[in-house]
Amino acid sequence: MSDCVFCKIVQGEIPSNKVYEDDKILSFKDLNPEAPVHVLIIPKKHIASLTEVNEEDAEIIAHIFKTIPKIVKELGIDKDGYRVVSNCGEFGGQSVPHVHFHLLGGRSLNWPPG
Ligand code: 5GP
Ligand code: ZN
Repeated sequence: MSDCVFCKIVQGEIPSNKVYEDDKILSFKDLNPEAPVHVLIIPKKHIASLTEVNEEDAEIIAHIFKTIPKIVKELGIDKDGYRVVSNCGEFGGQSVPHVHFHLLGGRSLNWPPG
C-alpha cells in the first residue's frame, strides 16, 4: 500500500536497519526500542493485521516463525530467551496497520503487559 510506512521500508523508500531479509519477509530494528534488542519482523506483502490473514498469507506467517530461530541466534538472544508479540487492532495497541511481530530480548521482560 502506497501510504503504508512498512511497505515503504520494504520498497527502500524509508531507510531501516535490516537484520534479516529474504524474498518473503524482512526484519529490521524498531525505531523506538523497548528493550536492548527490539526488532520487527514483517511480511513483504501488505497484510493489515493478523485478523486479515488468509490461507495464502498463513504460509508467509509460518515462514516468519520458521525464520525466528535463525534471527534470534544471529542476534544472540536464543540462550537467554526473548518474546514475540503482535499487537492487533485498537485494543491490541497496533499503530502500524501492516502485520508485524515484535521480537524483544536482551533483558528480563515483565509479564503481563499493560
Ligand atoms: P505497533 O505499535 O503497531 O505494535 O508497532 C509499531 C512499531 O513500529 C513501533 O514499535 C514503532 O516504534 C515502529 N515504527 C514505526 N515507524 C517506524 C519506522 O519508520 N521505522 C522503524 N524502524 N520502526 C518504526
Ligand atoms: Zn504495508
